Amino acid sequence: MKTYDLTVIGAGIIGAACAEAAAGAGLRVAIIESGVIGGGSTAAAMGHLVAMDEDPAELALSTYSLRLWDAYAELPEAEFSRCGTLWVARDEREMASIPAKIARLAAAGLQAHAIDAKELYRREPELASGMAGGMLAPAEAVVYPPRMARYLVARACENGAQLFAGRRAVALTDGGVTLDDSSRFAGPVLVATGCALQELVPELPMRSRKGQLVITDRYPGLVRHQLLELGYADSAHGNADSSVAFNVQPRPTGQLLIGSSREFDKGDRNISGALLRSMLDRAFAFLPMLRDLQAIRVWTGLRPTTPDGRPYLGALPHHRHTWVAAGHEGLGITMALGSARLLMDLMLGRAPAIDANPYAPARVLA
Ligand SMILES: Cc1cc2nc3c(=O)[nH]c(=O)nc-3n(C[C@H](O)[C@H](O)[C@H](O)COP(=O)(O)OP(=O)(O)OC[C@H]3O[C@@H](n4cnc5c(N)ncnc54)[C@H](O)[C@@H]3O)c2cc1C
Repeated sequence: MKTYDLTVIGAGIIGAACAEAAAGAGLRVAIIESGVIGGGSTAAAMGHLVAMDEDPAELALSTYSLRLWDAYAELPEAEFSRCGTLWVARDEREMASIPAKIARLAAAGLQAHAIDAKELYRREPELASGMAGGMLAPAEAVVYPPRMARYLVARACENGAQLFAGRRAVALTDGGVTLDDSSRFAGPVLVATGCALQELVPELPMRSRKGQLVITDRYPGLVRHQLLELGYADSAHGNADSSVAFNVQPRPTGQLLIGSSREFDKGDRNISGALLRSMLDRAFAFLPMLRDLQAIRVWTGLRPTTPDGRPYLGALPHHRHTWVAAGHEGLGITMALGSARLLMDLMLGRAPAIDANPYAPARVLA
């Protein structure tokens, strides 16, 4: 039996970030990944680094994490592009919600400002006519998540971590884990298996929320900012069985990513034709010129979703050596680095930079 200071199960962006932080802190780390590094939800993501202001705990973790992402702005593997986020307001009612949003972001230390219709169309001339204005968060960015996950795993390995690729964790034991080839690793374990969390930790509720994305051919300069409708949070934070919202991202290649949709517990990754239609109709209502572009691919991915929308970050109660980092829904790329740092502080007995209580797995275990 091998013994490690930490065995990280799952090498999506969350496990990869945790492994990198743990190996960097001098721990002897093992990484177990049954599929492709960054090949799960991480590969399906848009890679938008964004702060949403609706839930104070989510905002705190996102803010913390966004600051850590800045260190990777020049890293080729991150494919970092600071395009900013432009939230589009359709009418005066939506404009009226902006000052409160700016105040909540400012209280967290993030900069955003309102823009009028003239400035909106100066920045994004292709938007449909009649929009009222918007809110610009200029420091926000996009990255390429699967490549970043591979980079973080490689960094962990440079610092001594051992990668067990193609191996599946099948059971947690008290203070260890058993793999599908019957080998056993002793020592603390961190479960970072996203939507598959319940296979190893059945007591923590987790639902899969399917999302679909369309990517176009290359049209450099057509869209300059990550564009979202101000009502996006209703889809992201709501509990509707299915919903769509306008969300378009310019990739550094000139391609446009078009989203987004949410569907609970479909149990498959098939494209949902009717929902795809309504997602595109929503996008065309904001950016009519999208109708004339060539789409080259559509894919789906699953967001790991907890009952309150906040990730589980911490030790399982009564199992001091079993840690969990999962359930980041649609913000796992944004929150990965902060989640890893927070967990490392908890594991090493250091005071975390932000309050860890809102993410404690114990909150759902009455
Ligand atoms: C359509 C879509 C768009 C998104 N856009 C954004 C965005 O713009 N910005 C943002 O911040 N977030 C976004 N997200 C959310 C983000 O992708 C997820 O929150 C994040 O990728 C979750 O990462 P993870 O590491 O927890 O899960 P995963 O990436 O799924 O990684 C889990 C890994 O664990 C492995 N695994 C599972 N079980 C086992 C086992 N028993 N043994 C070994 N390995 C195992 C899997 O193979 C997988 O590689 C989006 C998600 C979707 C679906």
